Amino acid sequence: MTAQMPLPPECDAVLYSAEQIAEATDALGAQLTRAYTGEQLRLLSVLKGGLMFMADLARAVQLDVTMDFLAVQPYGPGARGAVRVTKDLDDDIADSRVVLVEDIVDTGLTLNYLLNLIKGHGPRSVDVCTLIDKPARRIAQIDVAFRGFEAPDRFLVGYGLDLGGKYRNLPYVATVRDEVMGL
Ligand code: 5GP
Repeated sequence: MTAQMPLPPECDAVLYSAEQIAEATDALGAQLTRAYTGEQLRLLSVLKGGLMFMADLARAVQLDVTMDFLAVQPYGPGARGAVRVTKDLDDDIADSRVVLVEDIVDTGLTLNYLLNLIKGHGPRSVDVCTLIDKPARRIAQIDVAFRGFEAPDRFLVGYGLDLGGKYRNLPYVATVRDEVMGL
């Protein structure tokens, strides 16, 4: 079903196929199931990039979970991860076990900001689960408890990740050509 989606002209290769993503997601789901056995788990994700991963991960976790979403708008290039929250959480997460489900962690600045925001709601614990970790450009020291892939320092699209709003619906993750990124 997934092989038919042609590679966009801005991309040079598929980095993670739909099958590899499904395998990684299942493995992460199993890890979360083991780590939170007997607990009620709250999965939080950030729109819009985290949507695909959240939907698949939630189905790979064999626990009682709730799902909630934040939406944020970056303040701009100099904001060092500071974001404006355009949709806050619906649920009260006080005293809950929370997992923040991310599509990608790059510098970690956004995640750092979001973690502080979430901690302000008084959860019992917060862990980070990201499908893709790009450690090469990390600035904020954050603990990523669960990760699917460690990616090279390339701009990626697909499976939730966009290029100017496009390509979130690709079933795979692809690398964008350096010349498209002005490199
Ligand atoms: P940070 O640098 O704060 O870790 O990442 C902030 C945001 O930049 C991510 O949540 C994601 O939306 C975006 N981002 C980082 N790396 C990539 C990438 O390779 N591709 C796309 N499409 N977005 C990215």
